[in-house]
Amino acid sequence: MLTNDTLDRWDRENFFHPSTHLAQHARGESPSRIITTAEGCHITDRDGNRFLDGFAGLYCVNIGYGRQEVSEAIAAQARELAYYHAYVGHGTEASITLSKMVLDRAPANMSKVYFGLGGSDANETNIKLVWYYNNIRGLPAKKKIISRWRGYHGSGLVSGSMTGLHLFHQKFDLPLDRILHTTAPYFFRREHEAMDEEAFTAHCASELQAMIDREGADTIAAFIAEPVLGTGGLVPPPAGYWDAIMPILKANDILLIADEVVTGFGRLGSMFGSDHFGLEADLITIAKGLTSAYAPLSGTIVSDKVWRVLEQGTDENGPLGHGWTYSAHPIGAAAGVANLQVLDKLNLVENAGSVGPYLTEQLRLALADHPNVGEVRGIGMLSAVEFVADKATRTFFDPSAKIGPAVAGALMAAGVIGRAMPQGDILGFAPPLCLTREEADVIVAKTAAALAKVFA
Ligand code: PLP
Repeated sequence: MLTNDTLDRWDRENFFHPSTHLAQHARGESPSRIITTAEGCHITDRDGNRFLDGFAGLYCVNIGYGRQEVSEAIAAQARELAYYHAYVGHGTEASITLSKMVLDRAPANMSKVYFGLGGSDANETNIKLVWYYNNIRGLPAKKKIISRWRGYHGSGLVSGSMTGLHLFHQKFDLPLDRILHTTAPYFFRREHEAMDEEAFTAHCASELQAMIDREGADTIAAFIAEPVLGTGGLVPPPAGYWDAIMPILKANDILLIADEVVTGFGRLGSMFGSDHFGLEADLITIAKGLTSAYAPLSGTIVSDKVWRVLEQGTDENGPLGHGWTYSAHPIGAAAGVANLQVLDKLNLVENAGSVGPYLTEQLRLALADHPNVGEVRGIGMLSAVEFVADKATRTFFDPSAKIGPAVAGALMAAGVIGRAMPQGDILGFAPPLCLTREEADVIVAKTAAALAKVFA
């Protein structure tokens, strides 16, 4: 086994980490974190430190770590058939079975699932399908995509453009044209103090309508949104939001892409966020919870309405020119099948729907009165604490003060992982769906102690 010193040196000399301050890391100014084992909701690093992982990796290890059923399914698949492609009608028992399992759980009117590797590539697929769809329908000008500020849809060229966070655009020449952003449904950060939640929902809807009118509905193909804003701050939509948005999309022949990379497979206490909010999506993006990250796999669930046009397109033009070598990779598919079986067997969707709200409520009871806590919010197994410099005037901290990272750092030092969300001073929690009430209590107690330390 390599010594920690050697690993640390090799890490800094060779490893290009995603979403990392490269220069600081290379210079050794930020810690290198080497994780070795994990079980349930806990991870252990190379020095033997054990952490309660309040963010399930990157909100992906939904069934919890160390589930032998899934590891064994992966091993068995690797032994039997580690790889075969899915082009021109090929498949494996695992990929075919998983397609059926996904469709059995998906909202009504869904027809097929296309498998990719991660959420970003699934969203690239979605936009290609949307453009193809409107070309086949004879609407070549109808191509623009409306996303929302603070939405997160990945970090590829189109997916990164649709992401509405400045960090993911700056110096990358993004967003690409054809990608527009409308108002974030983020009531706590509304600009007009006097607006109540209902008025704010109406404002979001009218801003969307105004953008459509300005651009011309005949140029807009799709609206992409997470049912609940995730990386942008873990923000449940204001009351009535989806009921106000959906009719606008319908009236303007705009497809709805529900990005359920975070909300899919139980995080909100329902199988899909679309079920929770009654969304009638035309395409649904899935990843993370599909395999609980035991192996990389994502997907695009395609509605009957879109599927019919795709079929027409291939009758007219021949095979669809879209595919990855690793589409429907058998190891990912085997992990997906075993993962969904564990999800069902342990009733983890129900657990998310009861322990998640308990966590949010306990955070609220413990923290809401703190002078620097502006809001405690949550839905299902997603909770967030947003910090403010001044509560009465809803004044935010200067980002350079790095309050969110300071709280997350103090929390980690106490053995609990929460995520400092990338835009704003927001501490986020998205634990594995198997979290117990006792573990939720630990998160709350340690968070309160971390706040006391940072704001001392
Ligand atoms: N969509 C959403 C809603 C996400 O939260 C993420 C990742 O966090 C993605 C897409 C991108 O997925 P990936 O990082 O697997 O490319």
